[in-house]
Amino acid sequence: MTYPFSTPNEVTKYEVIDEVPKRAMVIFAHPDDAEIGAGATAALWAAQGCEITYVQCTTGSSGSNDIEMTSERIVSIRAAEQRAAANVIGVSDIVVLDHPDGELEADRVFLSEIVHALRKYRPEVVFTHDQHRIHGFQHRDHRHVGITVQDAVYPYARDHLHFPEQLIDGIDPHKVKHIFFWGTDQPDVLVDVSDSVDTKINALTEHKSQLPGLSFGSDMDLRLRSRHSDAAKGYGFRYGESFRRLTART
Ligand SMILES: [Zn+2]
Repeated sequence: MTYPFSTPNEVTKYEVIDEVPKRAMVIFAHPDDAEIGAGATAALWAAQGCEITYVQCTTGSSGSNDIEMTSERIVSIRAAEQRAAANVIGVSDIVVLDHPDGELEADRVFLSEIVHALRKYRPEVVFTHDQHRIHGFQHRDHRHVGITVQDAVYPYARDHLHFPEQLIDGIDPHKVKHIFFWGTDQPDVLVDVSDSVDTKINALTEHKSQLPGLSFGSDMDLRLRSRHSDAAKGYGFRYGESFRRLTART
């Protein structure tokens, strides 16, 4: 069999990102998504002086398999877990939006909230869910976060005639440089996270209600690490975290 355009041995070359921005933002649907998606890169950048803001879009009110659990209790448990995990990562600020888990809509209210967060915290890089993933199921909230974040970056946060009522008290339009999507079918950039995978795992152990049994050396730990070591294969470092990058037009 011949391969007219590629060979089976041809490896996609990711661009290795080593530039650390001054400010970055992680926008995610549920408590624990941020660490799973971008925890190692966020921890690495925070340790190098990057100011990281989290935007948690839902309260995580449906995240329990325990039939005795109520929505109110799981919301307060997950809020505490998320704060503890963010502290491990080195996050400066957490914005918590009040949408119920599973009821996030890609509507104008949610768009305005994301635009406001971008204009207030002014990140150069935004990490979020890839709304275009087609391999496998993806939570509806994740898709709605991804599509809304991309719209918010361009053109809504950038252009002063969108949501002009926000532009008071020092809030100005803002241009994000790059979106890094996680959970993607088509990664094209890679970060060397050999020094921060331990911090990511440590942060994830704070999400006890979601990831019971996660500890150093556990099966879940080894599975997480093998994903990162697979991503780094051929690049000369131990662990990598990959993303699909979208660079905003200037
Ligand atoms: Zn989620």
